[in-house]
Amino acid sequence: MVARVIPVEDFDLVIFGGTGDLARRKILPGLFHRYLAGQIPPEARIVGAARSEMDAEGYRAFTREALQEFAPNSCKDGGQVEAFLAMLSYVAIDARGDGGWKELAGLMRPDVVQAFYFSVAPALFGDLAERLHGHGIATEASRIVVEKPFGRDLESARQLNRGLAEYFTEEQIYRIDHYLGKETVQNLMAVRFGNVLFEPLWNAQFVDHIQVTVAETVGVGGRGEYYDKSGAMRDMVQNHLMQLLCLIAMEPPSKFDPDAVRDEKLKVIRALDPVAPEDIVRGQYRAGEDGPSYLEEVGDPRSTTESFIALKVHVANWRWNGTPFYLRTGKRLRARMSEIVVVFKEPPHSIFGDDAGRSANILTIRLQPDEGMTLQVTIKEPGPGGMRLIDVPLDMSFAEALGESGNQMPDAYERLIMDVVRGNQTLFMRGDEVEAAWAWTDPLIAGWEARRDKPQAYHPGTNGPEDSLMLLHRDGRRWRDLEA
Ligand code: NAP
Repeated sequence: MVARVIPVEDFDLVIFGGTGDLARRKILPGLFHRYLAGQIPPEARIVGAARSEMDAEGYRAFTREALQEFAPNSCKDGGQVEAFLAMLSYVAIDARGDGGWKELAGLMRPDVVQAFYFSVAPALFGDLAERLHGHGIATEASRIVVEKPFGRDLESARQLNRGLAEYFTEEQIYRIDHYLGKETVQNLMAVRFGNVLFEPLWNAQFVDHIQVTVAETVGVGGRGEYYDKSGAMRDMVQNHLMQLLCLIAMEPPSKFDPDAVRDEKLKVIRALDPVAPEDIVRGQYRAGEDGPSYLEEVGDPRSTTESFIALKVHVANWRWNGTPFYLRTGKRLRARMSEIVVVFKEPPHSIFGDDAGRSANILTIRLQPDEGMTLQVTIKEPGPGGMRLIDVPLDMSFAEALGESGNQMPDAYERLIMDVVRGNQTLFMRGDEVEAAWAWTDPLIAGWEARRDKPQAYHPGTNGPEDSLMLLHRDGRRWRDLEA
């Protein structure tokens, strides 16, 4: 099966922070892949902007290196690389200064889609918005893309929203959460709302509980200073895990339209109960054979920031009353693995008797390392040994099922940038969603700060702190094993 590629219309994209890590690793390789796929028209313009002094040729050399490092397999055709690089130019601009803006204005074409990617620290969002407006560059049709973190609490998120709202309408603002750009995450919606099999069972009557895991094997590394001010709750739960929870728990939107989907997600966030202290487990990794401890990495022996968190969360509405959502995320764990697991209830009565065994259907939606879904179903053990039941997976690994097009599934950033050009905000967070997520998160953080709770130490390469296992054990449940 060959993936259908629908070209986007002509555009000018300015990447503020065009020399940064995100631009090198994700944005530029992502654009290159879309170019190779035939989705980007050759007339489109991509403009890097940052304080560093360089000319267009210098930026092309910078991008050539980035592509060779982060998209080596796609660089085999040198002609294609050069053709892509020919679309690039560069302007030296300080977000807080006044130089370079005239030059930028001269590069922008009034009759094509204009997008400005703010791949810089959030403290600069307001400055960029003000100057784009003040220099007459942004128009009513321009779009801006903003990166995480979108605030560190409700107040700072409100300030960011207010700062952007002075110059741009909500329809112009694309807040990225790259988890929403993952193929499987969108497939979660396709599975729920495109089949009749699942939706009638998608509620507390049939679902025992849901697990959402985002596990990493790496530590904080060079990001220690940033991470220590944030922690797993702010860095991962408030945004990525919350977005996944919303897509699992939301009511069917009336149509697949940006505001209809985001309205339903917002209702889920607003329905979240506060989390009791005994339902929160925070952890910090110790030193291991292959790396220093969290405290050593962040350089503060007294830090109480968590590198791991597990929570038991309740969505207080009719659909989910009594079905807990267990969320966990952490660094330096046993495996790099992200998945959503929907554990259905066992059949109410076994006609086969206790000896036959019984179990529950489990739908697993894997986000990484390999995207795909598995539905565990119960069948009879083959052979003449009587009626004994076993579980077998109905497996759908996208790369296998979709053949070549599955292997070439675009990275989340590629899809999201193309959505910006297309003007489709469905997979971007709305301002009120972000604020509602912080409104739920803030009291939890304030609670453990007031109690002076310390995170529990855990060994690297494990499933995290002992208490996180107990969070499920005490409910007669267990986490799925962390395995890549
Ligand atoms: P980075 O590597 O530190 O790059 C920052 C970029 O901003 C550089 O191009 C820098 O270039 C430019 N810059 C800094 N100050 C500027 C100013 N006053 N005016 C204009 N440009 C300025 O950061 P990054 O990792 O690329 O991250 C960028 C944003 O994406 C941040 O908000 C980050 O939180 C977010 N993000 C990053 C990742 C990731 O994987 N890296 C993931 C998710 C979100 P000059 O020094 O030349 O000006």
